Amino acid sequence: MPELDAGVIRALPKVLLHDHLDGGVRPQTVAELAAESGYADLPVDDSADLAGWFRAAADSGSLDRYLETFQHTVGVLQSPEALFRVASECAEDLASDGVVYAEVRFAPELHTAAGLPLTEVVEAVQAGFREGERRAVAAGHSIRIGTLLTAMRTAAMSRQIAELTVEFRDRGVVGFDIAGREAGYPPTRHLDAFEYLRRENAHFTIHAGEAFGLPSIWEAIQWCGADRLGHGVRIVDDIEQRPDGTYHLGPLAAYVRDRRIPLELCPTSNVMTGAAASIADHPIGLLADLRFRVTINTDNRLMSGTTMTREMTEVCHAFGWGPRELRWLTVNAMKSAFIPFDERLALIDDVIKPAYAAVGA
Ligand SMILES: [Zn+2]
Repeated sequence: MPELDAGVIRALPKVLLHDHLDGGVRPQTVAELAAESGYADLPVDDSADLAGWFRAAADSGSLDRYLETFQHTVGVLQSPEALFRVASECAEDLASDGVVYAEVRFAPELHTAAGLPLTEVVEAVQAGFREGERRAVAAGHSIRIGTLLTAMRTAAMSRQIAELTVEFRDRGVVGFDIAGREAGYPPTRHLDAFEYLRRENAHFTIHAGEAFGLPSIWEAIQWCGADRLGHGVRIVDDIEQRPDGTYHLGPLAAYVRDRRIPLELCPTSNVMTGAAASIADHPIGLLADLRFRVTINTDNRLMSGTTMTREMTEVCHAFGWGPRELRWLTVNAMKSAFIPFDERLALIDDVIKPAYAAVGA
């Protein structure tokens, strides 16, 4: 098996299911948008210092501190022009990192502070993604972006955002999500939104089992009917190692594995929020060994200072993985995407498998 360096990994086709638009803004763009819009609350003005500030503030070991950094990116994303720019740059950045399919999420309700209607927020981001896809093609890359609309679990707009998801389903929006502080805000608070989406045959994922444990995962799957788990890393709390070294899966872990429920794992982000001590200690190694439907994701590229190439390089170092494992992660993610089955299959057969075969997978 050839040793993979970051350059080889960057060139391989990658699939990303869990990436936040407001968590992936270029530092330079944050600084420029702040200057243009008169946003005066940035902690530092220089874009090089900003990149470091975001990483340091995010790397506090606390999910709550991590989430605080978003007030600044959201603060500069309050106009259609800013949303369009950031969405187009997101598509370009992912494409140049070798991502061929991405589902990028954002919460429309966070971008209405200047009076922008929810539909215009969604339209501006869609237009930005289409523009970024065009620029990527011009630069020699091919990428497709599907949008996930997020509702904040601490707020009460989830039903409205769910309706927006269905309204835009033929215009680039492929699914729904809830995000934000887990403790005290169980997914069942938003049951009405999830029941509506199921009646509308729509897809959704739920942030669950990141900072908070099994009850949150259980509610997301068994009460709300989530198609995927955003993080879901605490599912390891339901897995026990026996004295002989084998593993026993509790009923919830067994259900998640048996039903092939995708886990949107985000190793660097989890280390930063304290959900894992290091990449080598991250449960992704065990969950992959036990053949859960594991996917690897960036979560917030700005706050975590990461890319898909970096996440893949890190897990290769930590677990001795190579092309075979990276192909498995990539096919897992493509199978778990919210676009139609035939389109997923075409990307797997025509794009992903040939490229990994060429590096020995
Ligand atoms: Zn997330």
